[in-house]
Amino acid sequence: MQGIIFNIKKYAIHDGPGIRTTVFFKGCPLKCPWCHNPEGISFAPQKMKKMIRGDGEKKNTLREEIIGRSISPADLLTEIEKDRIFYEESGGGVTFSGGEPLAQPDFLKQALRLCRQRDIHTATDSSGYAPADILSGIADESDLFLFDLKIMDDEKHRSLTGVSNRGILANLKLLSEKRKNVMIRIPLIPGYTDDEENLAEMRGFLSSLPGIREIALLPFHNTAEGKYRKLGKQNAVKDIPGADPESMEKIREKFVSCDFHVRIGG
Ligand code: SF4
Repeated sequence: MQGIIFNIKKYAIHDGPGIRTTVFFKGCPLKCPWCHNPEGISFAPQKMKKMIRGDGEKKNTLREEIIGRSISPADLLTEIEKDRIFYEESGGGVTFSGGEPLAQPDFLKQALRLCRQRDIHTATDSSGYAPADILSGIADESDLFLFDLKIMDDEKHRSLTGVSNRGILANLKLLSEKRKNVMIRIPLIPGYTDDEENLAEMRGFLSSLPGIREIALLPFHNTAEGKYRKLGKQNAVKDIPGADPESMEKIREKFVSCDFHVRIGG
């Protein structure tokens, strides 16, 4: 069995507890205009230009590299295990992210099982867009589920991401009823997800779910422009300003007043 990934990030500190290795799965069924990993949306390997810095008098040059490679669960585990010492010392582990990891469920399940056999803490970071049985099975194999919640209005969700949010919300309800260990992650994208109507609806929905208490508000940082350029893709959010700390704090306080534990950042 092989999966397709596009990056393995070491020493990640925003993708769950402690120091983590984050594995980025290639391919996502959503198309969020603010995606900061545009190279993770296509399921197929693709070309991306890369700047090679010249030494001394040599000029910088642009080279094309292929983004996306196949890997077996066992080989992935060999990579993950290299940083075991950091996981043990920091209470960290591995996070499977993307792209959408649930879009490669068999590969993901096998990787999660191998981690569990080796006592490595796992987190799955997902948009929640998957058949309920797949999501439920993966949640059973994960120590922590990072559930990204974006837009509550279904029509707006469809028009911005290309898919309905009905299954996503039903999946979150399912995880909460199963009392799974879930952390909600809300990307605050100015003009897209941060309006009070959307956030008030989120607070109402999340308050109705049993066992959901942990929320991370993810501030928008306009850092993906270079990747869009190198992929030859249009960046729809390139002119949006970065996160404003004062507005973030106000949003945080409103979630705290609904009895959630809220942090800013992943
Ligand atoms: S769900 Fe995540 S990975 Fe997929 S397009 Fe949206 S932001 Fe990008």
